Amino acid sequence: METKKCLACGNNLQGRSDKVFCDAHCKSSYHYRKSIQESPRFYNQVDNQLKLNRKILKNFNKAGKATIRASKLIELGFNPKFFTHYWKNSKGDVYLFVYEYGFLKKREHDIEKYILIQWQNYMS
Ligand SMILES: [Zn+2]
Repeated sequence: METKKCLACGNNLQGRSDKVFCDAHCKSSYHYRKSIQESPRFYNQVDNQLKLNRKILKNFNKAGKATIRASKLIELGFNPKFFTHYWKNSKGDVYLFVYEYGFLKKREHDIEKYILIQWQNYMS
């Protein structure tokens, strides 16, 4: 029979063969360390998605204002769940912003569209 070692501290494990940690302490420290190791990757994912979103919005919004089919942006990798802040206009529309580029989802004749705007000083 092969001796199993604790994933956290490396000590030999005794008792039940399905155990992977000595105790609850080793288990929580292992998961804690793992979450720290994984968080930079999560940060990079968010960062990369924001950069891509900004690039796409910038490409389609050269004039400062534009309307574009949502599917066109999604096709290019745009993900509306990633934004940096938002701005509500006097009509109550909430524009989501990726840095200086804003977007608002609108449905026109059953087609989902994004109204694209650029951040202005009066919005802050
Ligand atoms: Zn241990």
